[in-house]
This record gives sequence, C-alpha cells and structure tokens, in this order.
Amino acid sequence: MIEEQHAQALTAIVGAENIYTDKAHLIAYSYDATRERFEADAVVFPRHEADVSAILRYCDAHRIIVVPRGAGSGFTGGALPSRGGIVLAMEKHMNKILEIDMQNMVAVVQPGVINKDLQKAVEAVGLFYPPDPASQEYSTIGGNVNENAGGMRAAKYGITKDYVMAIRAVRPNGDIIKAGKRTIKDVAGYNIAGILIASEGTLAVTTEVTLKLLSKPKLTKTAMGVFESVNAAMEAVYKTMASGVTPVAMEFLDNLTIRAVEATFHKGLPIEAGAILVTDVDGNLEEDLAFQLEVIERVFRENGCQEFKIAANAKESADLWFARRNASPSLSIYGSKKLNEDVTVPRAKLPETLERFYAIGEKYGVKIPCFGHTGDGNVHTNVMVDGKDPQQVKIAYQAIEEIFQATIDMGGTLSGEHGIGIAKAPYMHMAFTPEEMQLFQDIKRAFDPNNILNPFKMGLE
Ligand SMILES: Cc1cc2nc3c(=O)[nH]c(=O)nc-3n(C[C@H](O)[C@H](O)[C@H](O)COP(=O)(O)OP(=O)(O)OC[C@H]3O[C@@H](n4cnc5c(N)ncnc54)[C@H](O)[C@@H]3O)c2cc1C
Repeated sequence: MIEEQHAQALTAIVGAENIYTDKAHLIAYSYDATRERFEADAVVFPRHEADVSAILRYCDAHRIIVVPRGAGSGFTGGALPSRGGIVLAMEKHMNKILEIDMQNMVAVVQPGVINKDLQKAVEAVGLFYPPDPASQEYSTIGGNVNENAGGMRAAKYGITKDYVMAIRAVRPNGDIIKAGKRTIKDVAGYNIAGILIASEGTLAVTTEVTLKLLSKPKLTKTAMGVFESVNAAMEAVYKTMASGVTPVAMEFLDNLTIRAVEATFHKGLPIEAGAILVTDVDGNLEEDLAFQLEVIERVFRENGCQEFKIAANAKESADLWFARRNASPSLSIYGSKKLNEDVTVPRAKLPETLERFYAIGEKYGVKIPCFGHTGDGNVHTNVMVDGKDPQQVKIAYQAIEEIFQATIDMGGTLSGEHGIGIAKAPYMHMAFTPEEMQLFQDIKRAFDPNNILNPFKMGLE
C-alpha cells in the first residue's frame, strides 16, 4: 500500500482521476506476457511530460520505485513492479502522434502511441514505418524503443533503433533530456538516445520519440521454399542474404513446428519437410520483384529446396504466411509449459547453432521446436515440457542454460528482441564480463543515483 502522504502528493500532481490504488487496477497492471504477477502500490497515469517530471522528482526525493509501462506486452518482465512502487502507465494520455513531417520524413510521437496506429497514419500519406513486431496491434512506441523491438521486416529494414532519431526523456531526478535531432547526421556529443534505446525503462522515462520514415514500396510478393533438412534451409538463409538481393523477411519453421501447425490447423503442410522458409520481397516495379524472386529461388534450390512456390495474390500470400503466423500457439501440443527464448546469432552460424540446439533437446529428452526471423539470425527456441512435472521444468531450465551457452559460443546474444528484464537477468553473467556488468551499473548510477527507476532489472543491482 502506498503511504497516504505519497498518494496525496501524487494526486496533487496528476489529479484524483489519474491515480489508482484499488485492487482492480493493481491487478490489471500486475501482468505482462511473462505471466509473472507483481502488484504495484499505485498506478499513475501522467498527462504530459511535466507530470512525468514532477512525479519522478517527488518519487526520487522519497525513494519510491517507479516502473514505466506501455502496453505490458513484454516477454521478460520489464514493466512488472517486481519490487513494488508505482507503475507509470503511459498509454492513457500520452498516446498522440504529434507530427508527421513530410518534408523531412519523420514522425514525432508520444510514447503511448500503438505501433500499428503509427504505421497506418504514415501509410495514409505514402510513408512507411517498417518496425513491425508481432505485437504491433497493441505494443507502444515507448515499449518498442525501450526494448528495441524488431519484427518480420527486420531482415531488410532493421529494427527500432534504426529509426530513432531523437528522444525526449525524463531522468529520475525530474530533469528533461533532449537526445538526438531531426537530422540525418548528428555526431555532436555522446549518443544518449542510443544508450536509452533498449534500456528497458531503467535509465529515464521516454516522453517523446522522433522516428525516421521511408517511402512506402508499392509492391510486395511472398514466396515459400520447402527444404529437405533444417541444415539446408539455414545454409539457404545466409547465402540468400549475401546474394545481392535483400528480402524484406526470411522466416523459418522447423519440422517440429510444421507438424504442430498441421496437427492444429490441418492446412496440408509438408510434414516430412525438414524446414520451410517464408520470404517477402518488395519494390516499385514488377520486374524488380521478379528478379529478386529468381535469385532467391536459385539460391534456395542450390541449397536443397525441393519446392518453391510464389503467391499469385494476397490470399495466396496470406496462406503461405499462415503457418509462420500460427507457429507459436500451435506448439502447445508438445507440452503445457513453453520456455521461449529469442536468441540471435550471426546468420552464417545458423546451421551449426540449430544443430547444437537439437543436440541439447536429445540430451535432455525434450522437444525444442524452433522458428523465427532467420533473416536476421533470430531464432525462437521453445523448450516444451509438462508444466505440472517439477522434474521436467527443472530439465527445461537446464536446457535453456545450455541453449544460451551455445548461442554465446556462436558469437550470438541472449536476446534479439525481447530484452532481459527479470526473466533473463540470471544469465547476464554468461554473456558479459564482471567489468562489462560494472560499466552497465555505472551507467545506471549516472542516470539514477538513488536506484528508483525500474531497479533490479537487466541483472543490475
Ligand atoms: C504475442 C506477442 C508477440 C510479440 N512479438 C514481438 C516481436 O515480433 N518482436 C519484438 O521485438 N517483440 C515482440 N513482443 C514483445 C513485446 O511486444 C515488445 O517487447 C514490445 O516492444 C513491448 O511494448 P509494450 O508497449 O508492451 O511495453 P511494456 O511491456 O509495457 O514495457 C516494455 C519495457 O519498456 C519499458 N517502457 C515502456 N514504456 C516506457 C517509457 N515511456 N519510458 C521508459 N520505459 C518504458 C518498460 O519499463 C519495460 O521495461 C511480442 C509480445 C507478444 C505478447
């Protein structure tokens, strides 16, 4: 429970209609996609940047923990008040697209803007915001920036960090920071916006983001390749990406995933195949798309592709994407508990990495279906076990630790898009030296000396 004097002080800042301490609100804001649950002492809805600044200044002075929150769709617990304090929920008021600057091709948005709403708004004027996490219908730009979210189009267009030009944010002491500019080039001073991206709300509260926009390509086409083995498909991935054409997306499903989708939806998928690759190309001319698909088909076939299909229209395209889009929920046929990680390796290491993952599955006698964004080296590994069997759950965590080690051995990272939060904090020491962890800690202290902003996340103390 928040102390009465603090509740009154915060109410004086935001108004009684923007602070809640009732059970219903505390429960509603106690979740994210991890399914862990922690209740805050209060949920506060700032109306604007000045509110954020006043709230933080007060909380810093009184050592009250503040946890920023977008849509709460994170997979690693970043938005959870795991040590109590107040949840600072940005989605209610700070959710406006402030400007779409056609001349400079940038959008200026508040953090609570939903990703898809921004995409629709800029596409309505012929522009394009490429980062498209699968959670795009509800995740917010503030959450996307603070997790550095990626999506299906990352293979060609990159991830959130590639579009952030400037950030306005509030430090825990209430100071407002303006980091970055609406310029293509800016090399003056430290790259503070770069430090804030993927900082998981541990350094400052994002109050405004200036995002780079592109021209929207007019045409997109989808193709699918069926491969005899997962190894062949992984060879095809990195060779295609180095072939001179750059597909928008290059997504994969392995045999276990194909079987799971087929068992769930009965779509006539090739259940004997080692893997499927689904790819999109885009551009402004039919001939350009035809050329890209010709190159991709050639590289695929040189690397064990048995069947290559190009979608003739939007419906066929949706059919080809169906299996990939429904991969995740289908996996429940293998077990009630899914430990889902988003490890990422250099693309040319994909064949060896997948081999190591399947060997780990065999060693522990568990199924590890894999799918994901192979165009950027990002593999969703899913260790599937019976959640009611404590021994199985223990084994699953041992397998996960070995998956992380294999990933690090391949020069990869613990997380390509979901971040660290509380879920992956215990593994940070595997990926970073004590000196590197100390540097993270020093950066945290420089922004937040009293450790009130989303503390004890990302393996920090
Ligand atoms: C079904 C599903 C599919 C998903 N697919 C993808 C995917 O394809 N790619 C991907 O990258 N992720 C994906 N995610 C994960 C998640 O949607 C992303 O991490 C997203 O960026 C989180 O946005 P959010 O608004 O929900 O943020 P939250 O979960 O609310 O917060 C995430 C982090 O950002 C911080 N934060 C939020 N707003 C602010 C702010 N204004 N200032 C400072 N810190 C802030 C929080 O403290 C927290 O640490 C998926 C999640 C689900 C449930």
